Amino acid sequence: KSLVVAIDGPSGSGKSSVSREAARRLHAAYLDTGAMYRAVTLHCLSTGIDLKDAAAVEHAARAIELYISTSPDRELVTLAGVDVTTAIREPRVSEAVSAVATTLGARAELIRRQRALIAGAGHRIVAEGRDITTVVAPDAEVRILLTASESARLRRRGDQLGGTQSSSQLQQQVLERDAKDSTVVNFQQAADGVVTVDSSELDFEQTVEAVLDV
Ligand code: C5P
Repeated sequence: KSLVVAIDGPSGSGKSSVSREAARRLHAAYLDTGAMYRAVTLHCLSTGIDLKDAAAVEHAARAIELYISTSPDRELVTLAGVDVTTAIREPRVSEAVSAVATTLGARAELIRRQRALIAGAGHRIVAEGRDITTVVAPDAEVRILLTASESARLRRRGDQLGGTQSSSQLQQQVLERDAKDSTVVNFQQAADGVVTVDSSELDFEQTVEAVLDV
């Protein structure tokens, strides 16, 4: 029997690392949908597409040759065959990605691709992002909203970036991105039937277990 586990949450909730580890333990595939928004953003930045031009951004989302690995043990994203796994995590991409996420035509195209990846993944998949429980896979057998307090999220993002940014810079970036993203997707409140897991007081292992319990 097929199993789709949908996990949404804001940045710094530990969503990606927790979802990847949950997928490993479930012997499931894993899909990081945020990486797809990041890949479209990187493509626009490196080819000079104006992120304010909705038609151009939508066209880019449709036209790009985007590959994303759905193995939890192999993190790989390519654009036209070029490995962009590291490049999509650069600060300039994080700063610009909300422009792609709020372009509805680009969203529609990425949602279409995500549904196809989920359908093609085999018998089990853990898919994570901002709108998986509500839009991409509302019929998923398991739907989780992974939350954390603002201070826990900022601390984790800071650890992830290895202390390269001041805490006020970080706070501004994380909160601004969430505020922008919130204009098109609701990941601040659990939709009907979605189970909330609050990781504020949990360590990594405890959070993975809480997800597996659900
Ligand atoms: O999860 P991550 O921080 O890598 O996501 C990057 C960006 O992609 C988010 O800030 C948001 O703008 C967008 N996104 C989205 N819907 C998703 C996943 C990510 O809009 N399902």
